[in-house]
Amino acid sequence: MSNLILFGGRMRFLRALCLAFACFFSVISFIPASASAAVSRYVDWPQSILKQLVLVRDNPQQVIDDALPLLAEAQAPELKAGLYFVISRAYSSLMLHEKALTVSEQGLSLLTYDEQPWLHSYLELARAEALKGLGRAREGEREVAKAIRWAQQNQSHELLVYAYSVSGYMRLTLSETDEALSSFQKGYRLAEEASLRLSPADFSGMIALVYEYRDEPALAIPYFEEAQAHYRQTDQRLELANTLFGLGRSHLKLEHTEKGLQLLVESARLALDIQDIQGAAYSYQQISEQLIKGGQLNEAKSYLDDALQLFEDAKNPYQQIGVLLLQARIFLIENDHETALSLIRAAEKIALGDAFLPHQIQINHLKAEAFAARNDYEDAYTLLLAMHDDEQRLQREKNSQRLIKLKTAFDTEKQRAQNALLQEQNLRQQAELEQEREQQRYTAIVVTLLLIISLLLFWQHRISKRHQQRLENLANHDGLTGLLTRRKTLEDIEQQLNLAHRHDDHISLAVLDLDYFKQINDQHGHQAGDEVLKSFSALARQTFRNTDILGRIGGEEFLFAFPHTTIEDARKLLLRFSESVKDIPATINRDTLSLSVSIGLISGEHAKTPSALMALADEALYEAKAAGRDRIRIYSGHSDDVNEAR
Ligand code: GH3
Ligand code: MG
Ligand code: MG
Repeated sequence: MSNLILFGGRMRFLRALCLAFACFFSVISFIPASASAAVSRYVDWPQSILKQLVLVRDNPQQVIDDALPLLAEAQAPELKAGLYFVISRAYSSLMLHEKALTVSEQGLSLLTYDEQPWLHSYLELARAEALKGLGRAREGEREVAKAIRWAQQNQSHELLVYAYSVSGYMRLTLSETDEALSSFQKGYRLAEEASLRLSPADFSGMIALVYEYRDEPALAIPYFEEAQAHYRQTDQRLELANTLFGLGRSHLKLEHTEKGLQLLVESARLALDIQDIQGAAYSYQQISEQLIKGGQLNEAKSYLDDALQLFEDAKNPYQQIGVLLLQARIFLIENDHETALSLIRAAEKIALGDAFLPHQIQINHLKAEAFAARNDYEDAYTLLLAMHDDEQRLQREKNSQRLIKLKTAFDTEKQRAQNALLQEQNLRQQAELEQEREQQRYTAIVVTLLLIISLLLFWQHRISKRHQQRLENLANHDGLTGLLTRRKTLEDIEQQLNLAHRHDDHISLAVLDLDYFKQINDQHGHQAGDEVLKSFSALARQTFRNTDILGRIGGEEFLFAFPHTTIEDARKLLLRFSESVKDIPATINRDTLSLSVSIGLISGEHAKTPSALMALADEALYEAKAAGRDRIRIYSGHSDDVNEAR
């Protein structure tokens, strides 16, 4: 029985292939000429051909009847070639492959590939399809590949998806399922990228057929489902019926019995709606097989009655035999041998001639079983003996075919495995190289970025440092004279004073005040006063050491500190300095001006803090002023005991 199931399924499967092609062309033909022109800039089907293509699926015979007179009238070779294409398509969907081949070749003889590559490619694809139908798929291989190349190079996407579908079906009939899958998947991707007349869902249906063929129902199901959803949405009922059939079968194979049956029933109902009688019959047959398995014999019988009627209407003798044998088997199970035998005889009447050899053998097997069941062992034996020869003949044929197929399959398999291995090694090496390069590029980028970032940071650091220095400078130095400010002077002196105290070292401090400065301003102007202040400061910087602390602590008041300097050395230095001060007016071309300075001097040992020392030095300064100015007074330790230094 499993043979019968397989047989029925395979027939329906082949029919699905043909229908899928027919559908494709019906889709193409529904596109208005303008849309077609927009898609392909190479060629456009003329209106008359478009009209015929519409009919290919619904009524191929009509197409042939209509197109033949048109062909007689047509003058232009392109038009004739187009009509041949249509007719070839119609013959193919009637499964008249020999005629489809002849007609496609007639079309091809009218043009050269160089002049009309687009049309030529379509005709080659039609021819390849006819060859496939005749079991000569190999002969179309080269042309299909060429059509694919041309379509790829010329971005003719519609032609390309059609070519991928033809190529896939061709591979499938050659049992090259990997290649078939690859073609359909390419078609799927292309259809996904560009909005074409063949949708991804159409290719899903095709991919599902491959998995069904490979007996991988779990893989087929998701693809069938994608196609199903699409066809439901677009109301493509023939395609939906076919898809539901495939989906149902796949579920049955996975023993999802209820789901499978439900899908098959829906498929049959749909097929009847659109007058696809054979489609409905196949579904019924499939349903009955499942019901027999489940022991629901009466339900199976009624489905088989319907299936038989439909196959009779469709004039499909092969399937009639299949159904009759299924019916006979049910009666055998029920021990109704006579009815079983009468059904077997009905099958025998149809299976006449050499073309039915495999069926005859099946029939005789069942008949022998029936004889044995009613204890006619002798009849059964005679029958089996008689068919032994037939069976051997068939087996020999099958074996030789299978051997050739196995050998070529083995050779190509070996070659393909080697190629795949090489290619994989190549790819892996390439990938590794690429990865290494990528890594290097990445490292270089990171290093460069880090370099740039550190340069930027360094630059920013320098700028901010310079900025900070300038700010500090501004904060620490007096704007007019450039000497230290009062705050900075006291800070620096504190540091040096601490050091001196700690190391028991000498340090001397002096408070200096210009004499009668108010008068200078009053008599010579503020500007002159400023110049004097600047020159006085410049002279101080020239005279004293870098390590000495020179600050301006008020308008014309200064505080100087001399580290590592005894009071006596400081006095000498200051004395020389105050003499030089008197020359300042001459150096700034203000000879009429007279300048002198009064100084209060103190040794660091007299107090702990700069401000305390400064206060004491101020006392000495006061004494100097009081004594007539232009002199130095040294603080000696007692407020009323300031030494006369000059
Ligand atoms: P004495 O000999 O007693 O120190 O008399 P003096 O005039 O120098 O003292 P007084 O404190 O009366 O005047 C100091 C003057 O210094 C007052 C002020 O106008 C002037 N002065 C202070 N700062 C500046 C300055 O930055 N530029 C100028 N040109 N004059 C200043
Ligand atoms: Mg003063
Ligand atoms: Mg003064």
